[in-house]
Amino acid sequence: MSEVDKARQDDGHVAGTPVESRGPDGACWTVVVPGPFFGSFTYHHDPATQGPLPQPGARVRVRFGQSERVGLILAPAEGGAAGEQETRALVEVLDHEPLLDRDTLACLAWAASYYHHPLGEVVFSALPAALRGERSLRVPALRLTAEGRRALAEGRVRGRRQQAVLEALAARSHEACVVVSEIPGASAAVRQRLLERGWVEADEMTAPATWPPSTSADASMGGASPPALNAEQQAAVAAVETAGRVFSAWLIEGVTGSGKTEVYLALIEQALAAGRQVLVVVPEISLTPQLIDRFARRLTVRPAVLHSGLSDGERMAAWRAVAAGTSSLVIGTRSAAFVPLARPGLIVVDEEHDAALKQQEGFLYHARDVLIWRARQMDVPILLGSATPSLETLRHAWEGRYRHLRLTQRASGARMPAIHCLDIRAQPMEGGISPALMRAIERHLLAGGQVMLYLNRRGYAPSLVCHACGYVAGCPHCDAYLTWHREINRLRCHHCGFEQGVPRECPACHAPLSVRGMGTEQLEDVLAARFPGFGIVRLDRDATAGKGVLAESLARIARGEARLVVGTQMLVKGHDFPGVTLVGVISADQALFASDFRGPERFAQSLLQVAGRAGRAERPGEVLVQTHDPTHPVLTRLLSEGYAAVMAAELAEREQAELPPTRFAALIRADAPQADAVRAFLAEVAGMLREAHGEALSVWGPVPAPLGRRAGRFRFQLLILSRVRSELHRALWHVDERVGSRRPGQRIRWSIDVDPIDLA
Ligand code: ADP
Ligand code: ZN
Repeated sequence: MSEVDKARQDDGHVAGTPVESRGPDGACWTVVVPGPFFGSFTYHHDPATQGPLPQPGARVRVRFGQSERVGLILAPAEGGAAGEQETRALVEVLDHEPLLDRDTLACLAWAASYYHHPLGEVVFSALPAALRGERSLRVPALRLTAEGRRALAEGRVRGRRQQAVLEALAARSHEACVVVSEIPGASAAVRQRLLERGWVEADEMTAPATWPPSTSADASMGGASPPALNAEQQAAVAAVETAGRVFSAWLIEGVTGSGKTEVYLALIEQALAAGRQVLVVVPEISLTPQLIDRFARRLTVRPAVLHSGLSDGERMAAWRAVAAGTSSLVIGTRSAAFVPLARPGLIVVDEEHDAALKQQEGFLYHARDVLIWRARQMDVPILLGSATPSLETLRHAWEGRYRHLRLTQRASGARMPAIHCLDIRAQPMEGGISPALMRAIERHLLAGGQVMLYLNRRGYAPSLVCHACGYVAGCPHCDAYLTWHREINRLRCHHCGFEQGVPRECPACHAPLSVRGMGTEQLEDVLAARFPGFGIVRLDRDATAGKGVLAESLARIARGEARLVVGTQMLVKGHDFPGVTLVGVISADQALFASDFRGPERFAQSLLQVAGRAGRAERPGEVLVQTHDPTHPVLTRLLSEGYAAVMAAELAEREQAELPPTRFAALIRADAPQADAVRAFLAEVAGMLREAHGEALSVWGPVPAPLGRRAGRFRFQLLILSRVRSELHRALWHVDERVGSRRPGQRIRWSIDVDPIDLA
């Protein structure tokens, strides 16, 4: 549970003073502190305050309620007559230089209000973890005195090491002072002697943001020359170039392998050459290594990297280097959307359709949408790239708000794979595989190709059932079945993490239990038995959990040691395996019949993305999709008319059903141990909204969430839709005001999700 949810549950009482007040000396500052507070607080600067002078973006220590907290200064406080009400004084200013610049602070303020999330939480989540506390960035430094300079000039310095230190300081005499750690030989003893003679003075300064961290010159960098861009790529680069270094939003819709990355690279090179910084955001941490490699081979700057797999120290170093402008290129995941940029020039969001760009817990922002806002504010171009753009982005492009660039051919000359449906009704299946798919696998393996099989269910079997009485092993805490993981021989809930041993027999009637359905573990078994000696790799969250395991698995595929690859959603994520000639989709049915209104869109995206893994090099690719419903309209339209046709039909349906993106939407989720309490709470919110905003909104619910009970809590939701964005936000502010500051009681937790992408 996030801090905010907790406080919403426990009723966050607001400590501090109203914003409209001023301290005796008039120098007042608005300060945010992390916590469930929708406003900011005012403090005055007392000359007795320790540390440097306050400035926006600097951290401060303040008295807050009965305790002290670390906050961050937003701005000078406006208005209010002096002495109207006592404000408290800042206890200490922690930073000599602001951590966040004004543009970033403005973006965070916008994001907090747009996503209806407490500002202090938003601001502190934008800082690297290492800087969320009091950690000082000050380090010891030395300055050469006039006396020291004279001693050096007159040759009065005896010790060799003292001489070296003074020379180092003299060489950098244009700087006010020099960090001790950057002066070779400046040991404590040497410093002490120099200080005693009055040749140096001790000082402190903000640790410089250094990048790259250690080894700098790297021969492998920047060596590779770019391929000659094809006509479509050239046209794309030229279009963005011609638009100039001002805000413009571009959708680069390019089929899998069409060379989108080369287009980014050409534009990134131009921005770097113009002395600007570039921010590249990707949805998945696993996509960063290959991108970093590729960028490093082509560009002469080392990319700074920002993602959750780094240590706090590494993350802070990269973040500061980007904020200071020391690093010109940064590649990161979602949270990099908020990194301050000293001299922005270009923003790239790759795989813009990917749901992983939306934060799913706590502060529910969408990195792509935040970056569109920032690009406009910083007045730089932003590129959104995808083979399967989201309906939101496509609609913007179709309606002319974004410019639309298309790459319709594979860049390397490879053809797009042919996609065919396999009707598996009444077929004798072997471990989830129809005879036609089995023959195709054999054919491709014997022809020297690699085969990839996609099944979006991990574990061995999704349920364990009793054939005699119908008992199914379910999670005691969720409305869900337990998945059997045979490797560890445990039953596991994929929603709450509950685990138990595998029962020997049906607990109800003592008959033996049998497995139902297919998971990736089982598929791996079936294939290993049927095609021994070809080497097999499984890519899913369980099989790649250990450190370095994923990289090793990918390397085995790349070296051709594994000719069979079985995997979940993980296969879909952009990997480039040139040897793959056949992609098999074990079942399209689950996705085709998803209950979420985005089901058809998600289905088309993941099918085309996984299909895009086939035939990326010389050998042509084939894609086979197993289904019980070969005449499903989404499937047939996708195969006969293509992605754009499916999305155009989707848009018409959403318009008719009054759903996003044709309406602005927010979801209010609530859960509690008692179903009645949550339902009543949301019914009250719904009633209030209907009464006060009935004309401008439609309010759907409360209804149970798709997973009605998770981890022992009952889950309900309200969907709020409006044609007018400002009406939706007015209603949400009303909810914040009416409910946000009062305890719903009965351990109810609730949250607002603006532009929800997942109704689960
Ligand atoms: P995308 O990002 O659209 O999936 P990539 O940029 O990764 O596509 O390109 C796919 C493959 O085609 C890569 O191996 C890349 O090196 C190659 N490629 C890209 N552009 C060209 C080009 N103009 N000529 C030859 N090969 C290219
Ligand atoms: Zn569970």
